[in-house]
Order: sequence, then structure tokens, then C-alpha cells
Amino acid sequence: EAGLEERVLAGLDPEQREVATTLRGPVCVLAGAGTGKTRAITHRIAYGIATGVYTPQKVLALTFTARAANEMRNRLRGLGAGGVQTRTFHAAALRQLQYFWPQAVGGPLPGLVEHKARLITEAAQNMRLSTDRAAVRDLAAEIEWAKVSMLTPDTYPARAARRDMPLGYEVRTVQRLYQTYEELKTDRHLIDFEDVLLLTVAVLEEDERVAATVREQYRHFVVDEYQDVSPLQQRLLDAWLGGRDDICVVGDASQTIYSFTGASSRHLLDFPRRHPEARVVRLVRDYRSTPQVVETANRLLAARRPGPGSTPGSWATPLHLVAQRPDGPRPSWNEYPDDEAEAAGTAARIRDLIDDGVPASGIAVLFRTNGQSQAFETALAEAGIGFQLRGTERFFNRPEVKQAVVQLRTAARAAEASDEPTRLVRDILSSLGYSDRAPRSTGAVRERWESLAALVSLADRMAEEAAARGEQLLLPDLAAELERRTAQQDAPVMNGVTLASLHSAKGLEWDAVFLAGLSEGLVPIGFAETADEIDEERRLLYVGITRAREHLVLSWTLSRTPGGRPTRKPSRFLDGLRETPPPRARGPRGRGARAHA
Ligand code: ATP
Ligand code: MG
Repeated sequence: EAGLEERVLAGLDPEQREVATTLRGPVCVLAGAGTGKTRAITHRIAYGIATGVYTPQKVLALTFTARAANEMRNRLRGLGAGGVQTRTFHAAALRQLQYFWPQAVGGPLPGLVEHKARLITEAAQNMRLSTDRAAVRDLAAEIEWAKVSMLTPDTYPARAARRDMPLGYEVRTVQRLYQTYEELKTDRHLIDFEDVLLLTVAVLEEDERVAATVREQYRHFVVDEYQDVSPLQQRLLDAWLGGRDDICVVGDASQTIYSFTGASSRHLLDFPRRHPEARVVRLVRDYRSTPQVVETANRLLAARRPGPGSTPGSWATPLHLVAQRPDGPRPSWNEYPDDEAEAAGTAARIRDLIDDGVPASGIAVLFRTNGQSQAFETALAEAGIGFQLRGTERFFNRPEVKQAVVQLRTAARAAEASDEPTRLVRDILSSLGYSDRAPRSTGAVRERWESLAALVSLADRMAEEAAARGEQLLLPDLAAELERRTAQQDAPVMNGVTLASLHSAKGLEWDAVFLAGLSEGLVPIGFAETADEIDEERRLLYVGITRAREHLVLSWTLSRTPGGRPTRKPSRFLDGLRETPPPRARGPRGRGARAHA
């Protein structure tokens, strides 16, 4: 009906509308952060369905993370476009592989490697190489790079000879390790993350019947975050398309932050050349952030200098963002003597924001390395502020969630007549590690608790909604809701401050973003050496800054530990980023903080 079509296009600007109404590809959207790329492609799919041009089941929307896939699915449902497959490359490939493996290869699909680091360690032990954490991490990354670059142990040395070897290994050594790792997997009948994509490509390229079936199933392709597509993902995309070009890609070359895994903005920047008939749309209005945040982001990009060694074309023409939102607070700059003081100061600022009415779920603390998380976990726990570490990624696949769902279902059958259900839920889940108070401990115990807490708060929410209707929540209602959510991978929203790495914050947004640990050695990270690597660190900071809708808080520390020698310097990227000196009056509250002049 016309009403729905209009509703889908309402709230889009003219350029976004052009994307949404160009229902046949190829379409390429080149645009900066917060300009509504994801919104435009979501509405494009909905518009295609509303107008009857697309059959929902024939659309495959590819996102970078499972969380992004979830979000897009929910938004599509809200626009009357349920039933579309929104998945990561990996999830889409795995599903197809499971389906086609018995026919194309025979026998059951091998199991997935769960602890890759262990296998790499074993391979390294066999070869008497160092197995310390840094060594294993670097070797794993190198093998991953080789695989997404579609290099086998045989073809690896020729390409690798031009790269810096991790930890100074010989190319031959890494080649043998790669070989050993592959053999260990084959012996144990296992496949890893990259194998899922490699095998899908192989089946599609070699088995015409399978390829024909898959291509009949999927006709319209949409790819978000296309600037970070790897050669392997591109090959898979080509195999899916099979020469057709009904594809729409969106991306921002200034947000390429996964080069270390073989991703490259080359595919995005080359798209118009590969598809000369492509409709290329540029978006420049930034709908996400205040002018103050946008200005900071623009300045960061403008300050970059194409140094010697930086690859031409590794950046698109810098896209200058034009802010659409009203003025907001100035970004805040904070220097702390050490990490503990930074965490405490950050927790105090977060408390202020929450007291001012910003929801905890609208606040994020982002950092460069996962190791930085601990200090913030401790400080937030001490300040009594809820936080989430894992988000909702693979929520219903977590062992504790599976166990909880089974137990709740069993209880629902047995206890139909019972009903303080929220009490009952707590009793049941406490056997799995839930308690109303968040545990002091961090790490795995905390993560487990977090999942269970999300289920409890879902039950509480449902009970409140039932009460508002003058009804009572029954346990079978909760069990049915969990069943529905499991089927649709619709994880319950968790309320709490997000603690996450800059890399995992891609595509997301919060009212208030704290960028912590902005000192040399962290941003840019110490092991970034070449001009390209330093460029990527700058893009990472750009991604971080552009996550903020309103409040942007930047901080760095002079030393790691309290009383330690002040050996750190603020990140070089902060030079010239701040235009006007900060107002003197409002320094951060909390220990040891002082406004940086
Ligand atoms: P990123 O590069 O970070 O992934 P993006 O380009 O995908 O950003 P979106 O996430 O789609 O941007 O949009 C950013 C924010 O702006 C969202 O909150 C979105 O709802 C809002 N937005 C986008 N377009 C419009 C519009 N035309 N009117 C109002 N709000 C908009
Ligand atoms: Mg996006």
C-alpha cells in the first residue's frame, strides 16, 4: 500500500532517498560516519519489499558484526519488512555450508575450532617455537592474514617475503607452522573461522548445482561496512553473485580499521571502476553527532599527512562532514596521573551523566586494547554502576543462556499455577551463578552473570508490562518469549554502560563516549610502525570520536600505575585537535584529575 511506501521513505534526505529507491544494483554509497549509510540501506530493503520488487527471503544483507545484523533485522521488522536474512559473512556462509556439505562433500560438516590459540600453541610446541602469549597472538594473526588473502602454505612464502614477519620469524618458519596447524585441524576433523568462508567459496566455485541453488535463493545483496571487506569475503560475494550485479555496498574509507586481518578499502574505492554502470551516491550530512563532535572528527582527518610509504588511495578524498544536530557540550579533555585515577575519574563522570538523566545504556567507554578494560570494570563496580562487557553477541549460543532457557522451560511446564514468576526466575538462575548483586570478580564469572542478569531483567520487564495491562506474568509466557527470541536470535537489551574496544564499536553510537588511554603507545599502539599502520590508528580514533552523539570525553594517563614514573605522552593525534582552550571552571571530578591546559 502507498502508506507503507511513504512511511519507509519518510525521514530520509534526498540522497538517502536516492539510495533507497534505486532498487536494482549496482549501487555504491561513499560517505562518512553518522551520515546514515546503514539507515539508507535498511530503508532500501524495506522499500524494495513494500513495493513488491523484492521477496524478503531473496535478500541477503551482510553486516560486520552479529550485533549489527540483529539491529538491522529489528529495524526492518519495524518497517514492516520481516523475513530478510541479515547476517555476517561468516554466519551466512556457515549456514549454507551446513546445508550443502552432505550433498557437495559428503558426511557431516567438521566441527568448528573453539580454541584456536591452543591449536597454534600446539603447532608451535611441535616446532619448538616460543609459545608465550604475544608469540601465539602474532602467529595466529599471520595465519589468519594468509588465509583471508587466500594463500595456502605453498603460496604463502612468495607473498609473505614482502611483509614484516611477526617477531622476526623466518618466512619458512611461519610457513611450516601454518602447514602444521592445518594438519592438526585435519587430523581432528576441525575447521576454523576462515575455513568456513574458504570452503563455501570452494563449493560454490566447483559445484554448479549448489551454486545454482544458492543463486536462485539470493538475488539482492547489500553490504554494510564494505570498506573492511577482505579479499576472501570479496571472493565469496563474487561467488554468490555469479556475474549478476544486483548489489549495493556502503562504506567509509576513513573507517578502515581491520587491515591487520587482510581487509582493505581497495574494494570500496575500486567498486565504481569494477562496475562502471554503478550509481554512486555521496552523503555528507552527519545526523549522529553535535557540531562539536563533528568538528573534532573533521579536524582529526584534516590533520593527517600522507607520509612517505603510505599507500596512495588508502584514504578516499577526505569527506568533510556537515553537522545537522544542534550545539552540544564541548568535548572534554582530561589528563590523569595513572590508569587507576583515569578509571576512577571516568566512573565519577559517568555517575554525573547518569544523575543528569543519560541512560547507562547510552554511555560507552572505549579503549584500544582489551587489557585496559579491567581498571574500568573495577572502578564501575566500586561506584555501583552496571556495565556490560560482551554486548549481545551470540547471546543464545552461550552455555549459561542455553542452560537457563532449558531450566526455565522445564519449570514452566511444572509450575504453571505458581506465579511470583520473577522470584522463581531468580531462584532458578541462582543455581547457574546469578545473584541480584553483581559479582566483584571480573572476567568469565562476570560475563556469565551478565548473561543471566539480562534474562532476569527481561523477566522483570515482562512482569511490569503485564502488570500495566492489569495481568500477571506467567512462567510459560516467559518461556514462550525466550523460545521466540532464540529462534530469531533477538537478544534481550542489557542495561548498563558498555565497555568495549575501539574495533568492536564500529557502526554503533552512544549519547556519551569516553575515549580512554589516549597516550602514545596505546593510540597509536606501540607496534604500529609504518606510515600505513599509523594511518590506521588515526582512523581507529576517528571511528571512536564519531561514535558519540553528544558527550565526548577524551582522556590519557601519564603513567601506568599509581606512583609510577610519568613516562607516557598524550597521543600525537591529539595535537591540534582542540581548537579553543577548555573552560577552566569545570574540570572532571574524581581523584587526581586535572584539566589539561
Ligand atoms: P557509521 O559510518 O558510523 O556506520 P552510518 O553512516 O551508518 O554511520 P547511521 O548509523 O545509519 O550512520 O546513522 C547515524 C544516526 O543518524 C542514526 O541514529 C540514524 O538514525 C540517524 N539518521 C540517519 N539519517 C537520518 C535522517 N535523514 N534524519 C534523521 N536522523 C538520521
Ligand atoms: Mg553504519
